[in-house]
Amino acid sequence: MLPNCKQMAELASKNLDTPLTGMAWLKRKIHMLMCKHCSRYSDQIKLSSKTVSTLDLDLPINEDVKKNVEKTYQELHCRKDVSQ
Ligand SMILES: [Zn+2]
Repeated sequence: MLPNCKQMAELASKNLDTPLTGMAWLKRKIHMLMCKHCSRYSDQIKLSSKTVSTLDLDLPINEDVKKNVEKTYQELHCRKDVSQ
């Protein structure tokens, strides 16, 4: 049985650390060929991971940017809680 989209999302994150092999890889590949949403999500996860890995984390953090990110995160998080 092929994984559903929720399982595919979990696999996309795990796949960054430990690539799939055998039947798990084949089932994921078949799902990706049939589902453009999971294919796009997987591409975005890979791009995000690649982007983060290129960041120079030794740079000092701009406090204004940090506050804006925290504020935006809290706003989004609160909206999510309200809608559930
Ligand atoms: Zn899917």
